[in-house]
Amino acid sequence: MSDHPIFNDEHRAIRKTLREFVAKELTPFADQWEEEKGFPDSVFQRMGQLGFLGLQYPEKYGGQGGDYLCGVILAEEMMGCLSAGVAMGIGAQTDMVCALLNKMGSEELKERFLRPALDGEKIGCLCITEPDAGSDVAALRTINERDGDHYILNGQKTFVTNGVRADFAIMVTRARGSEGAGEMTLFIVEKGTPGFIVSRKLEKVGMHTSDTAEITLQDCSVPVENILGEEGQGFYHIMWELQPERLFGAVSSVAAAQIYLDITLKYVKEREQFGRPIGKFQAVRHRLAELATDLEAARQLSYHVAGLILAGEFPAKEIAMAKLFATRMANRMADEAMQFHGGYGYMMEYPIQRFWRDSRLIRIGAGTDEIMREIISRQMGL
Ligand SMILES: Cc1cc2nc3c(=O)[nH]c(=O)nc-3n(C[C@H](O)[C@H](O)[C@H](O)COP(=O)(O)OP(=O)(O)OC[C@H]3O[C@@H](n4cnc5c(N)ncnc54)[C@H](O)[C@@H]3O)c2cc1C
Repeated sequence: MSDHPIFNDEHRAIRKTLREFVAKELTPFADQWEEEKGFPDSVFQRMGQLGFLGLQYPEKYGGQGGDYLCGVILAEEMMGCLSAGVAMGIGAQTDMVCALLNKMGSEELKERFLRPALDGEKIGCLCITEPDAGSDVAALRTINERDGDHYILNGQKTFVTNGVRADFAIMVTRARGSEGAGEMTLFIVEKGTPGFIVSRKLEKVGMHTSDTAEITLQDCSVPVENILGEEGQGFYHIMWELQPERLFGAVSSVAAAQIYLDITLKYVKEREQFGRPIGKFQAVRHRLAELATDLEAARQLSYHVAGLILAGEFPAKEIAMAKLFATRMANRMADEAMQFHGGYGYMMEYPIQRFWRDSRLIRIGAGTDEIMREIISRQMGL
């Protein structure tokens, strides 16, 4: 949310436009959408029309032709809508689905899916996780079997963001009889394809505005042209996709934590107990000073890593470090924000409870804390 030397004037202009849009067209509806447990599809369309979904994608497919940092700015500014579920729904489209389509898609698939996704006309979802395969992606069991010029898909996916409303889904599957990381293939499955079944809309602790689905594939026949990327390389395609997704988690956590801190600072300056603002008590002041320090450290690490990605590097260890550190920091910030708001923080009429519930997810999604530690420690030779 702050200015930084990695950003240029063009980035600053995009940030300003996005901030105005979010404040005017999203934030006023955060409470309503929370109650309704969802935000309308029209948000995708509106953001597509305004060019916000394609900031970092080629003009050739309807994007704005910006660089990677434009996506970072989108991730940050979306948190200003005060509903992390809305930010996640949009982020799943821009940084999971469109990232894969842009990197791996054939010209034909880009025309059929990337262009309408950037326009906000089609909503996509990415289906990796299965009931018995979460952190261990190599253990997934959704099967593909060739049948002439089609493949037949069978299996079950869960925890799919945008899964209920998606017009198409990117499915991670494996060839029957294969094991481990080899022979996995990505397929694009369109809504309405026989055997593509949204079996359940899942209820969650937080992130109520984002839809999360369980999806079943029952003899679902998909044409060969719908293979995304290289056949048999699906595992490696997903490992690539997870990198920017994790940094997206880190930068949006930093932006969210800044909001939690700002709201809390205002509150501790106003709320009085024992004849003085509670922010004047050393026990409160010092904890806020430490949280602000952690926030700044998370921001600098995330921006450092974003700069490396901009320069064409994909530093898995540093990305994992940024995600681990920033998301844990945001969780602490949300928890302390509730503590400093006292009973009011626990009431549904204040947004603090939502921040506290919503922020918990990001230590689980896109790879858990434990998996981040695995990645880091492996690269340390352990
Ligand atoms: C709201 C929400 C939205 C999501 N959106 C999507 C989506 O759009 N698409 C998608 O494909 N997935 C999505 N996910 C799934 C998410 O990525 C997984 O939940 C996550 O990867 C963890 O998998 P799991 O839930 O099966 O937990 P498990 O893998 O079963 O892990 C359970 C616990 O064991 C720990 N653990 C596992 N392996 C190790 C290890 N080697 N060492 C130490 N500890 C370990 C984990 O860290 C965790 O604490 C979403 C999840 C949620 C909750």
